[in-house]
Amino acid sequence: MPFDLNPSSAERLLEYFKARCGDVLSLTRALVETESPSGDLEGSRAVADLLARAALETGAVTSLERTPAPDAYGEHLRFRAFDGEGSAAERTLLILGHTDTVHPLGSLSERPWRESDGKIFAPGVFDMKASCAVAVEALRACVEQGMRPGRPVVVLLTCDEETGSMSGRALVEEEARRAEYVLVLEPPAPDGSVKTKRKGTGLFSLRAEGRAAHAGLEPEKGVSAVLEMARQIERLHALSDASLGTTVNVGVVCGGTRSNVVAAEARAEIDVRFGTLEEARRLEREIKGSVPFDSRAKLSVSGGINRPPFERTASVGALYEHARGLASLLGFELGEASVGGASDGNFAAACGAAVLDGLGIEGDGAHAAHEHIKAESIVPRAALLAALIASL
Ligand SMILES: [Zn+2]
Repeated sequence: MPFDLNPSSAERLLEYFKARCGDVLSLTRALVETESPSGDLEGSRAVADLLARAALETGAVTSLERTPAPDAYGEHLRFRAFDGEGSAAERTLLILGHTDTVHPLGSLSERPWRESDGKIFAPGVFDMKASCAVAVEALRACVEQGMRPGRPVVVLLTCDEETGSMSGRALVEEEARRAEYVLVLEPPAPDGSVKTKRKGTGLFSLRAEGRAAHAGLEPEKGVSAVLEMARQIERLHALSDASLGTTVNVGVVCGGTRSNVVAAEARAEIDVRFGTLEEARRLEREIKGSVPFDSRAKLSVSGGINRPPFERTASVGALYEHARGLASLLGFELGEASVGGASDGNFAAACGAAVLDGLGIEGDGAHAAHEHIKAESIVPRAALLAALIASL
């Protein structure tokens, strides 16, 4: 029987986290003071050490696994909890996060841990080291508050999310396929809303090849790759469809050598976002099938769809409603948001699990110099995560 939150157990859970808040903060501080930019093996291992130790101390964890990413990129950390007593065959609850940050080594000495006005500033604190600490603390709460989850819990913290999950993706998919529910610790929307829909993303590169010629003496012998690309850019942007949330953006263009030479070559980098797989397929077909306006020019396309869309299915909606009910027992309103940015939640959703994303601590400035969390958000968000783990 999964745990059922009621007004008095909600009150006890909030009291519990108020008492544990100092411990959550000291683990968070230890994590951010161990810098772990994507690709930094030493930092990645050191952060995994801290989290592994804290996880083992909760009394919830039954096994722990560290998987090195190829090319000494870092270490993925995975641990299992509450999976004894014949529950191993059931579908799991997966908690998904990452230990890498976008902040290069040395960011910490420029912008050390600082508390001011109820905000805590530090590189990587919001995306998402405070939330990693909260995930561990939520497991501890389940043990110490006697809220035993109804299904096995898996916590997967990858080390390469910020650079596209090149090796973490396979682990995310492996665990998501076994999961009934996936809770993603990414930052929430600015008003604290969780994310029930994320666009998918793709990245393409288009190259146009023309023929160089003297722009003054014999322009007719030339084929301008720049002109060809200009026409292509108009066509590419027109593939956008605001009614479906599909966007196409040519964000980088380069080409040509000198103003008095007809350009022999041009290149464009294209970012695409879409809400459905159908739209992803349409974009891929249209971009890969690009035909030159000037038949003397040649086009070549590389790249493709990167992350599938995370769609708000009925099971996602039901999971959100469940979380909203728990939040209201815990004394706050939990909104939902749909966003253009993708996360590892997209990979999990494509495996068929019900995904709720943006469950991290509230704050602002992810990836920026003013990155911070709101201290007052720790207790309610930690309580919500613990209640979700215990009740799903
Ligand atoms: Zn993140």
